[in-house]
Amino acid sequence: MENCDCIEPQWPADELLIKYQYISDFFIALAYFSIPLELIYFVKKSSFFPYRWVLIQFGAFIVLCGATHLINLWTFTVHSKTLAIVMTIAKVSTAVVSCATALMLVHIIPDLLSVKTRELFLKNKAEELDREMGLIRTQEETGRHVRMLTHEIRSTLDRDTILKTTLVELGRTLGLEECALWMPSRNGSSLYLSRTLHHQLPTGSTVPINLPVVNQIFSSNHAMIIPHTCQLAKIRPSSGRYVPPEVAAVRVPLLHLSNFQINDWSELSAKSYAVMVLILPSDSARKWHVHELELVEVVADQVAVVLSHAAILEESMRARDLLMEQNVALDYARQEAELAIRARNDFLAVMNHEMRTPLHAIITLSSLLLETELNPEQRSMVETVLKSSSLLATLINDILDLSKLEDGSLELEIGIFNLHSVFREVVNFIKPIAAVKKLSVSLTLSPDLPLCAIGDEKRLMQILLNIVGNAVKFTKEGHISLTASVARADYLRDFRASEFYPVSSDGHFYLRVRVKDTGCGISSQDLPHLFTKFAPGRNVASRGFSGSGLGLAICKRYVSLMQGHIWLESEGIGKGCMATFVVKLGICENPDGSQQKIVLLPWTKHGQEDTSSSRGMPKDPKAFIPLKPRYQRSV
Ligand code: ADP
Repeated sequence: MENCDCIEPQWPADELLIKYQYISDFFIALAYFSIPLELIYFVKKSSFFPYRWVLIQFGAFIVLCGATHLINLWTFTVHSKTLAIVMTIAKVSTAVVSCATALMLVHIIPDLLSVKTRELFLKNKAEELDREMGLIRTQEETGRHVRMLTHEIRSTLDRDTILKTTLVELGRTLGLEECALWMPSRNGSSLYLSRTLHHQLPTGSTVPINLPVVNQIFSSNHAMIIPHTCQLAKIRPSSGRYVPPEVAAVRVPLLHLSNFQINDWSELSAKSYAVMVLILPSDSARKWHVHELELVEVVADQVAVVLSHAAILEESMRARDLLMEQNVALDYARQEAELAIRARNDFLAVMNHEMRTPLHAIITLSSLLLETELNPEQRSMVETVLKSSSLLATLINDILDLSKLEDGSLELEIGIFNLHSVFREVVNFIKPIAAVKKLSVSLTLSPDLPLCAIGDEKRLMQILLNIVGNAVKFTKEGHISLTASVARADYLRDFRASEFYPVSSDGHFYLRVRVKDTGCGISSQDLPHLFTKFAPGRNVASRGFSGSGLGLAICKRYVSLMQGHIWLESEGIGKGCMATFVVKLGICENPDGSQQKIVLLPWTKHGQEDTSSSRGMPKDPKAFIPLKPRYQRSV
């Protein structure tokens, strides 16, 4: 260390100087010895200090320096050699330790410096983090406000309440003096003051939409500060104490209902905007903060969304009201229809009961009358009566059948029946009538046609009688052929009728019947209308023939009930006609798998064998009585 003068003085010692040196050395030694104590205390307290060994070295250096000064106290006067040796050792040790300490410091100082730099860096970082934390806290605060606000706004879906709540909540959250909403007028040329937070609405307060400030607000989706002097900010009446406040404005998109098919709200484009104007208290000298403006923007967007939800709700309410009205009207119409159906059913019941009974009496009595002695004129008259009554009976039955078919009350009577017998019966029945017109009738049953089938025998016979009856009716001369076979899979596959999809299934087969005549034929334009009820004589070729136009309509419905299809073909007027129908019937099998045998009777009526000798018309005129009058259509 500094002037450790341990060499004995060469000049005579000045008493005063020596005294001062003596005292100084003592204090220097005292100070030196106190430093290590302080260092020890410091190291003890600071467990983080990394250079403990350096401190120990430094402590030793200090102690040694102190020791040399202390030993000096005895060297001012004459002293012994031992003291000189001690002094020398102390000085040498001090020199060694001080050099080592100096060398160590060369290494430590940069380290200490870098620690200092790191500390500075960390300090800066901490400040930065503090700033960020502050920002996050502000954002959280804004978010909380927005949540509170939007919760309030969303708690209703009534437009008026939404707007009112928005203004009130914004006013409260941001401590506004005034908050107002300018809405676009109907024609879109101006904005009118729709509502304010505190002040009475000045009547007729409008602003032209083409003002530069309005354009500026419309073109940005950010809230912006607008001059307090602009028309949008003139909401409150100006007073003498008026100090210019800070005014912010933001656009509120008004979304339209047609946009609501889009799922992503961000894709929506508003057709028009409203403007929200927010005024800070004039006396507070408050300025708009960025986060406050952000809050205003978020709220404006939220209001837009909630308003659009409200519009949807309004629209759906309107639709619901409309639906309810329609439902009431429908209910009324249904009641009316039910009444009409009831009236029709009553009428049909009366027809059934009250008209058929006397009609049957007329037919029976006129048939009996024909058996008696009559002159030709009387016979012709009675025959006309019989023919007309039969026609009337057919018509009544047709109407009854059709109405039953139409209201869905008619169900097939499924049972096992002799299929061959049905065809023979039809032919036997029709033959006498055809004979009168000198028409030949042929029946071909294909060998694969099952003897028996499961289905509605009576309805099948009714279809056949209708079609064969028509063939006889519309043919003046020539031939009528009736063919029955099983429709093969390939025939069904390339079926041309689009409304018929044959579905083959186990235990069923499709019966195909074809009735061909050489009659008046049908023109191609009449073909599509043949199955329309009450449309007789549509076919120009068949004009002059009697008919109600119900037969084919009924046949079509029966065939549909039997999951089949019926159609007519003709090459034109005068070229005959071919009627075909396909129906689905059940295959009738014995438990052992063989086909069930049914005794085939040549002509049966209600299960009884015909005892008449001829295979033609039954002898008994009562056979004409239409027990199932549909079978006895006028031909
Ligand atoms: P209608 O009681 O008039 O016979 P249909 O429904 O049985 O009623 O027949 C409807 C129309 O189809 C008939 O009026 C007739 O014009 C036409 N028609 C049906 N079958 C034939 C046929 N074999 N030859 C010519 N025209 C027919």
